Amino acid sequence: MTRITFERLASDGKARTGVIRTPRGDIRTPAFMPVGTAATVKAMMPDSVAATGADILLGNTYHLMLRPTAERVARLGGLHKFMNWSGPILTDSGGFQVMSLADLRKLTERGVTFKSHIDGSRHEITPERSMEIQALLGSDIVMCFDECPALPASRDRIAESMELSMRWARRSRDAFGDRPGHALFGIQQGGLERDLRQQSAEALCEIGFDGYAVGGLAVGEGQEAMFDCLDYAPDQLPEDRPRYLMGVGKPDDIVGAVARGIDMMDCVLPSRSGRTGQVFTRLGVVNIKNGRHADDPRPLDESCGCPACRNYSRAYLHHVFRSQEIISSMLLTWHNLHYYQDIMAGMRAAVAEGRFAAWQADFHATRAQGDIDPL
Ligand SMILES: [Zn+2]
Repeated sequence: MTRITFERLASDGKARTGVIRTPRGDIRTPAFMPVGTAATVKAMMPDSVAATGADILLGNTYHLMLRPTAERVARLGGLHKFMNWSGPILTDSGGFQVMSLADLRKLTERGVTFKSHIDGSRHEITPERSMEIQALLGSDIVMCFDECPALPASRDRIAESMELSMRWARRSRDAFGDRPGHALFGIQQGGLERDLRQQSAEALCEIGFDGYAVGGLAVGEGQEAMFDCLDYAPDQLPEDRPRYLMGVGKPDDIVGAVARGIDMMDCVLPSRSGRTGQVFTRLGVVNIKNGRHADDPRPLDESCGCPACRNYSRAYLHHVFRSQEIISSMLLTWHNLHYYQDIMAGMRAAVAEGRFAAWQADFHATRAQGDIDPL
């Protein structure tokens, strides 16, 4: 099986565009990965997710290991077949979600033990077990098992945690072995401390990975602090490998991250917001539950090509949201994912044509106009 490779096609400032080639298909970068937590992008059929322009999905190791279990997914032919998604899948390592969701966590040099938030059963994830679970799932891009403290944390705590994550990165690399057609990404840690991020990057490069993630951001530090860190963190990672910013973010976070040299991102925000009536458009955020939409025959965004905007009025979307109809989650999620992929496509084209700064200025100016006036 061929190896996963990254071809850089163009740069404009720090922004890059390229393609990650995998046996399951190409991933155009910068790429946004919709999150398919429990082997589904909630409220979306896999074909619909692909129709929005997504090349790759993210699956969550923590959720899948608990239910239906990685062993069951493997017996049923792997995650791609199980969920009917033929494109590439990236899985996280389980580390972040154990720390944010599980009960009674115990962290040791060996790994993390915890109680399931679903049924209270006891589990352990070590770097070796995380690699095993991600292999059982059949993930195309596997993430190292790591640990990251919630911010704010003391510098000592951040340093200790980063050093543990680097030892776990080595163990992840050893346990992953040589699997042609599958990639292993390392994860840079170090909080908002530039020198710790540098040490982390050097430790990862010495081990050697197919791609590198900036971890430990979007954990409550705020956009300004995140951008300050992204002003240097991606530069500390190898230029010739994909750089992945984990768990980000809002549309303006994504644009700011790409401007700072990030190639891949994932976030539950567009799909989760679709279910709570929060809609992202070129003109900013629209709250569809607001009564101002009840008689409005206009689309959410007249320039959007998604089914929610092409075929339905704001009045209809408002009605089905208020009535808690299932189609509300379907249409709003579709729109949000479509809009996110439109942003990615816009940035890829702008970088390729050397007009990224102008594209970025237009993105911000359009948002600053705010939503269309009520009728
Ligand atoms: Zn739309």
